[in-house]
Amino acid sequence: ALMITDECINCDVCEPECPNSAISQGAEIYEIDPNLCTECVGHYDEPQCQQVCPVDCIPHNPDMKETKEELYQKYMIISAA
Ligand code: SF4
Ligand code: SF4
Repeated sequence: ALMITDECINCDVCEPECPNSAISQGAEIYEIDPNLCTECVGHYDEPQCQQVCPVDCIPHNPDMKETKEELYQKYMIISAA
């Protein structure tokens, strides 16, 4: 999963781009639900939020390191729900 750092400027550009609705506005900044973020696996070749973020504040979540296989499994589970 990816995560949003405190460099986020709350521009709201990323939220509508997420195919899994994993991004939402939090108390201070935008947040990514790591249980819903597949790093766009299953939908796109590249993480869409990273592509559009103007301040480049969406790195990998160090607490949620996943392989492409695991991300695809997550995509399958989310899609079936
Ligand atoms: Fe959503 Fe893709 Fe960004 Fe994850 S990487 S938060 S699935 S747009
Ligand atoms: Fe924050 Fe970047 Fe999303 Fe804008 S695109 S709300 S700066 S994470």
